[in-house]
Amino acid sequence: MPLHIHDTLRREKRLFEPRDPNRVTLYVCGPTVYDYAHIGNARPPVVFDVLARLLRRQYGADKVLYARNVTDVDDKINQKAAREGVPIGEVTARYEAAYLADMALLNVSPPDLAPHVTDYIPAIVDQIQAIIDAGCAYAAEGHVLFDVSAYPSYGALSGRNLDDMIAGARVEVAPYKKNPHDFVLWKPSKPDEPAWPSPWGEGRPGWHIECSAMIEQTLGLPIDIHGGGVDLAFPHHENEIAQGVCAHGCAHAENAHDHYARYWMHNGFLTVDAEKMSKSIGNVLLLHDLVQSMPGEVVRWALLSAHYRQPLDWNQGLLEQSRKNLDRLYGVLRDADAALADFDPATLDEAELELAENALDPVLDALEDDLNTPGAIAQLFGLANALRDLLNDAEADINDVAMARWSLKEAAGLLGVLSLTPDAWFEGGDPALKAEVEALLEQRAAARAAKDWPEADRIRDRLNALNVVVMDGPDGATWRVKG
Ligand code: AMP
Ligand code: ZN
Repeated sequence: MPLHIHDTLRREKRLFEPRDPNRVTLYVCGPTVYDYAHIGNARPPVVFDVLARLLRRQYGADKVLYARNVTDVDDKINQKAAREGVPIGEVTARYEAAYLADMALLNVSPPDLAPHVTDYIPAIVDQIQAIIDAGCAYAAEGHVLFDVSAYPSYGALSGRNLDDMIAGARVEVAPYKKNPHDFVLWKPSKPDEPAWPSPWGEGRPGWHIECSAMIEQTLGLPIDIHGGGVDLAFPHHENEIAQGVCAHGCAHAENAHDHYARYWMHNGFLTVDAEKMSKSIGNVLLLHDLVQSMPGEVVRWALLSAHYRQPLDWNQGLLEQSRKNLDRLYGVLRDADAALADFDPATLDEAELELAENALDPVLDALEDDLNTPGAIAQLFGLANALRDLLNDAEADINDVAMARWSLKEAAGLLGVLSLTPDAWFEGGDPALKAEVEALLEQRAAARAAKDWPEADRIRDRLNALNVVVMDGPDGATWRVKG
């Protein structure tokens, strides 16, 4: 089945046809780097990482260009730097580094491009000028505003109608705006805020223009797929479309929005224990904290366990189930690896490799159906069960075991899970913990050999405190993190 995706703009599942199959373009709105990301912020990069993996498989790794921006100009960044009394660059560098480190723990592959707003100010100024020249924006009191009345399709993405929006407007209207829904493309900076020169005075860009300018510069218009959380559809993405379309003089073109992006994908929101995350409730879960206390793959699995357009509730049960599911799959892999210890993969012939490849079809079918990750997970269990049956069958051909193991690993790779060795998984995937536990196990062996039972007990207590279970076996002790 070829890839179909649900397009927010057309409100239907559509066959995905890239503009150029040799250059498939994807853009996802990235983080504003003023604080640690919360678990909701992790949903888009994980979901769209699965999409990027799928596109790379279908079109070729070098045929896909995926850009995820970094917003490093923002009022919240300025406020944080002022509060801490440090340069703005220190705040943005700190939180970008933390974001990337946490993404790596979630096994999110780096995007091909990560444009930073501060590197694209001239492009932003050029795009604003083009919008003014097209008659769709105006300068007033050091600001430049987009004139929503100049773009007849404004509202097409979010299904809003400008007249209704105006009728329902309760916003405080700045005196320099012609229409309450006109939005800022450029604004003056206060004395201690970052500022760049422009034809309209020293200032800085609005939020929406950064994405449309960076998209044009890095990927070229129109792009194939634009993604982000559902909260961004209005106004951010609506405004991006208006800017991108009008900068190219297409405001009155038929299906004008197609000049900007061909497919729009939005992920649903994540709640925590059935509540919206909010600072006032005090239930904001930071990704940075979560990945310290559990393997990144558990977090990733939990994020992929619901269809990306559906809401996802984050709770203890979800995490326990995710860990159990991964334990089960890693358990099958561990046993397969033991069975295949002396197997030479070169003995698999072409026909066998093709069979192993075909076994991926059900997983691919699920993902090609609008990125149905719960469906793909169910199929992954199908592959694991088939492998388990072979392992339980004393008569099974070892080549079949090797093929089934390959299919399971390959399918898991599409979802970005089972990336560790089974040993690393069962030992917690944490090298510092591994070193500590192994040192303790050696001391324990020495204490036992010396019949120093009080010392052996003390070491056992320390292992318990590390949340580790030790299993003594004929070949020595193995261990795993309790979970
Ligand atoms: P922000 O830093 O608020 O611009 O958010 C970064 C990304 O995370 C955007 O794509 C948001 O739509 C997305 N996002 C924010 N909160 C949530 C949430 N609770 N659930 C899912 N996605 C979210
Ligand atoms: Zn954006």
